[in-house]
Amino acid sequence: MGQRFSTDILVIGGGAAGLSAALHLAGHARVTVLCKGDVESASSHWAQGGIAAVTDPEDDFDAHVHDTLNAGAGLCDQEVVAQTVARAPEIIRQLVDWGVEFDRSENEYHLTREGGHSHRRILHVADATGKALTHTLTDKVLDHPNIELFTDRVAIDLINLSKFGRHPNRCAGAYVLNRSTNHVEVFQAHFVILATGGASKVYLYTSNPDSSTGDGIAMAWRAGCRVANMEFNQFHPTCLFHPHAKSFLISEAVRGEGGILCLPSGERFMERFDSRLELAPRDIVARAIDHEMKRLGLDCVYLDISHRPRSFINSHFPTIAKRCADFGIDMANEPIPVVPAAHYTCGGVVIDGTGASDVPGLYAVGEVSCSGLHGANRLASNSLLECLVFGEAAANDIKRRLEEPRWDVNVPQWDESQVVDSDEDVIIAHNWEELRRFMWDYVGIVRTDKRLQRAQRRIDLLKQEVHEYYSNYRVTNDLIELRNLIHVAELIVRSALARKESRGLHYTLDHPETMSRADDTILFPGSMDRLDVLQPVFS
Ligand SMILES: Cc1cc2nc3c(=O)[nH]c(=O)nc-3n(C[C@H](O)[C@H](O)[C@H](O)COP(=O)(O)OP(=O)(O)OC[C@H]3O[C@@H](n4cnc5c(N)ncnc54)[C@H](O)[C@@H]3O)c2cc1C
Repeated sequence: MGQRFSTDILVIGGGAAGLSAALHLAGHARVTVLCKGDVESASSHWAQGGIAAVTDPEDDFDAHVHDTLNAGAGLCDQEVVAQTVARAPEIIRQLVDWGVEFDRSENEYHLTREGGHSHRRILHVADATGKALTHTLTDKVLDHPNIELFTDRVAIDLINLSKFGRHPNRCAGAYVLNRSTNHVEVFQAHFVILATGGASKVYLYTSNPDSSTGDGIAMAWRAGCRVANMEFNQFHPTCLFHPHAKSFLISEAVRGEGGILCLPSGERFMERFDSRLELAPRDIVARAIDHEMKRLGLDCVYLDISHRPRSFINSHFPTIAKRCADFGIDMANEPIPVVPAAHYTCGGVVIDGTGASDVPGLYAVGEVSCSGLHGANRLASNSLLECLVFGEAAANDIKRRLEEPRWDVNVPQWDESQVVDSDEDVIIAHNWEELRRFMWDYVGIVRTDKRLQRAQRRIDLLKQEVHEYYSNYRVTNDLIELRNLIHVAELIVRSALARKESRGLHYTLDHPETMSRADDTILFPGSMDRLDVLQPVFS
């Protein structure tokens, strides 16, 4: 039988969002942080480019706001954008205070520029900003006496008090699989923060680590939260193309520093698609590459920065240069083969300005959420910023509520009496592969109604199979993730079918025009019929 744990605040996720929320809370309450694996299981660890913030006197908040709104294609919440941008310099000061050492040149921060930004405003630690950030925050978390960090824990479902007698609708923890013991544990808490990251693993090719299986979005949806804008999946234009280079990203900063996209013939092609060339927003660059690859039947295109001196490349892109060298590619001397890959989930759990979801006691911060910052397309390097701004906002709101009355409920243990060990794990492996492949083929960079409907029919079948499996067999990590991925895939397809236009990251050949009115796609739990209703989320 699994163990029971009790805490004030349960943070599910140990990336930038979860760790920063935990650190802001630890001076006020007991905090428990769960993550699936170690610190490297978070996308945050792999972030290369950096964090967007106005720190240069030549730059200003209006320009950062303008760039964010521009990328978001009419769907950003302007108030959220303005508040996030204005908070960014303070967030940077906080990180420096916690020990993050951003690159400097001559006593100023060294700033890079990425696609969609009108100024150099990305603070970074060489090309491994996420690693520096997560290691620093993890060390602080481990040092703090009020925070307990549990690794190898997979949250399965959220606990709602209303399920146990006459108690209010309130989130009070989670059932969690301990991957070491294979037992399901109960983590009871007065507040829960979901910080589980995105869902890019729903696609065959992704830049994300294995943890990005949309667990938080699926759990919140099952728990009764609205989910919004799931059709907006950002595909990073440039992942390293090599049979053994799983998920390795070639940062946008390479294009920011003069990298040129070209065909195998050496022909530069972005000028045929956008006047901003390689620094056009990611969706435009990804679609251009997709178009050229399909037009010419290519496996990849090339990104060439070999015109810059080797010393510049080695000092600015040491991680990328090393990784390329591991695969026999000398980026200072030859172009890098690249393909687009699923990179960022713009939609997610609907939250307000404090990170609160629709279910009392439950917050969602970071990539798992839909805060209104990104709209229909995320501006590069705004996502770590969002994690840190909303991690802090959720912590502040919870601090204000710590004295509210609490419910003393003995949550029952996970019931394993009716299930047995699976003897057919091949079904899970097969369904994983099938789901991710048809999502790539039918729900990828360019969509049509017919392909989306085809995907939906396959999802219906998988859902039924996995539901039966889930009801009869003991849960495993792969089964939990597959179940979540199927739920997330359905949310993506339903949202994409509901949007009868092309906007931002959602591009469909059947509705190529952009409507004059911009509305969010909100999915209402418990009523699939309402999935096709478009309404402003944040009104
Ligand atoms: C390669 C790469 C490069 C990027 N570069 C940049 C960049 O330069 N700038 C930028 O702003 N953004 C960048 N991004 C995006 C950014 O890194 C992410 O959006 C951000 O880090 C998400 O942080 P998060 O805390 O929300 O989630 P994550 O960092 O993904 O953390 C999620 C955490 O939740 C845990 N978890 C998940 N499910 C469960 C579960 N069921 N139970 C328990 N724990 C669970 C995971 O183990 C992990 O600890 C990049 C992303 C990638 C993949």
